[in-house]
Formats: sequence, structure tokens, C-alpha cells
Amino acid sequence: MSHGETFAATGFHRAARYLGYMEKQPTQFPDRAALVAHVKALSPGVTDDAVSETRGGRAAAEALLAAIDPTAYGHNRNYLDGAVSRLSPYIRHAIVSLNELRNQALEMGDVKAIEKFIQELGWRDFWQRIYTQNPDWLWHDIEPYKTGFVASDYADTLPQDIAAGETDSAAMNHFIQELKTSGYLHNHARMYLAAYIVHWRRVKWQAGARFFLAHLLDGDPASNNFSFQWVASTFANKPYFFNLENLQKFAGMQAPCDFHTNKCFGGSYDDLALKLFPHMAAP
Ligand SMILES: Cc1cc2nc3c(=O)[nH]c(=O)nc-3n(C[C@H](O)[C@H](O)[C@H](O)COP(=O)(O)OP(=O)(O)OC[C@H]3O[C@@H](n4cnc5c(N)ncnc54)[C@H](O)[C@@H]3O)c2cc1C
Repeated sequence: MSHGETFAATGFHRAARYLGYMEKQPTQFPDRAALVAHVKALSPGVTDDAVSETRGGRAAAEALLAAIDPTAYGHNRNYLDGAVSRLSPYIRHAIVSLNELRNQALEMGDVKAIEKFIQELGWRDFWQRIYTQNPDWLWHDIEPYKTGFVASDYADTLPQDIAAGETDSAAMNHFIQELKTSGYLHNHARMYLAAYIVHWRRVKWQAGARFFLAHLLDGDPASNNFSFQWVASTFANKPYFFNLENLQKFAGMQAPCDFHTNKCFGGSYDDLALKLFPHMAAP
């Protein structure tokens, strides 16, 4: 037997053992409380008591599928209360496929009006393909940071105040609590929080990515880690960052975004670039 065959056989036995284990797990519960208790018993190391409101299963996914509004999405998707689908956990766990979602969108409006929605589906497909072709990129910097700093300038671990949602920014604390209690964040909130972790707190993107994956119901190493690398600039030609004006415009109705509790984001983009990236060469 070749090395490849041995490896495949090992993988096969592991998969068979897992399927056998899953077959022994109950699939029906008298109520949600019993299901929650069962899952908690399967996760002895997890002390976090938060249970997301998100319901699993095909029926819940179909209700969200029927409610998508890809035309409105094109206009307001960057606002935290925009017409996003919240289907990512169902896509991640193969309850809905990207094809099914695309076909549903195509039935709901002319192609031009729903273009943005289809493009965003494309991002998920793109990240999966990048991962398949370059599995070793998942946890390694694809390129150097373009921030004027080198990787060793960034902390390896997530500071405790971020993990606890007790930072000096009320908006970031709000996003952290939402992440930990619901297992979901809007894309723009993910970008804000990732940028805060990497650029304001100068923490390695890997530590932020681990934190997100530990809490997201749609936690997907390819979409998550490559998005983090895009924010960090190790997979982009410049870092992503934002200012308070942007935060207030897109998140102001959902999160506490006043200046006094979010001072670190105040100022113009030029001012913030000087503060966050003092060694970065001028463009
Ligand atoms: C730092 C960071 C971490 C992220 N981590 C994850 C993750 O772990 N898992 C994950 O599925 N997505 C991740 N994303 C991508 C995106 O934020 C989520 O897919 C999206 O917010 C899910 O919400 P939704 O279903 O309401 O999306 P919608 O806006 O309704 O989009 C529909 C579907 O298109 C796909 N999609 C939309 N935008 C993106 C995008 N920018 N990148 C990839 N796919 C996209 C998703 O499958 C999504 O469910 C991350 C983005 C960032 C910036």
C-alpha cells in the first residue's frame, strides 16, 4: 500500500467512526431546552452560557430564503440594518447551497438590480477556491503587512479586554457582545471589529480570526481568515480602517457610536493613518 493509500484509508476510517458516532446521537428532542442541554453536555470545556436565538434546520433556512430582498440589498447592504439575508450559518453547514440562493435571487428581480447580491455570493466561492488551492495560506501571512509594521510588531494573543467586551470603545464592546451571544455579526461590523483588533490594538490577525471562529455560527476558516488578511493588508495592497464618521453613518442606529465613548476613531482618514501607521510610506 502506498503512502497515499494509507493516508486515504486513515481518513476513511476517521470519517466512518465520526458517522457512527453521529448516528448514535439523538435527532429528536422534546423541546429546545433539552437540545441545548444535550449540546452543552457534548462540549464539557465550554463555559460560555450564551445560547444563540438562531434556529437550525431546513425550515428556518427556507423562511429566510423566502424573505431575501436582493434589490434592496444593492442599495443598503452596508448599513447594519440593511437587507442582509442572515443565511450564512445555513450556507456554512450545507443546509442551503450558494446555487440555490443564487437561483432564488434570479427569480426576484432583473439581473442588474440584484447584481450586488450575486457578487457577494461570489466572495464566498472565491475564498473557498483560494483555500482549496493554497491550504497553507489559511493561518500564515500571505504577504507582508503594508502598514509600516512587520509581523513581530503585532501581539500574538487577544487582549483580555477585547475577549471580555470591555474595551475603551462602546461600539466595539457592543459588537463583541453581539458576536458572543448571537454567533452572528453583519459584514460591516466584522470589518470594524477586525480592523480595531489588528490596527488600533496591533494584534496579529490570527488572534482575531481565532476569536471570531470560536463564536460565529457561520465560522468558516476560509471566509474568516482571508477576510482578516484583507483587513490586515497581508492579502491586500493597503490596510482597511475606518473613522468615526463612517461608523456613525453605517452603524449609528444599532450601536453606541457617540464620540465620547469612541474617541479612538475620531478624526479624518489622514489623521488616523498618521496615528495608526506612522511608519507607512506616503502613497
Ligand atoms: C473579518 C471578517 C470575518 C468573516 N468571517 C466569516 C465567516 O467565518 N464565515 C462566513 O460565512 N463569512 C464570513 N465573513 C463574510 C461575511 O461577513 C459574512 O458571510 C456575512 O456577513 C454573513 O451574513 P449574511 O448571511 O447576512 O450575508 P449576506 O450579505 O446576506 O450575503 C449572503 C451570503 O453571501 C456570502 N457573503 C456575503 N458577503 C461575503 C463576504 N464579504 N465574504 C464571503 N462571503 C460573503 C455569505 O455566504 C452570505 O451568507 C467575514 C467577513 C469579515 C470582514
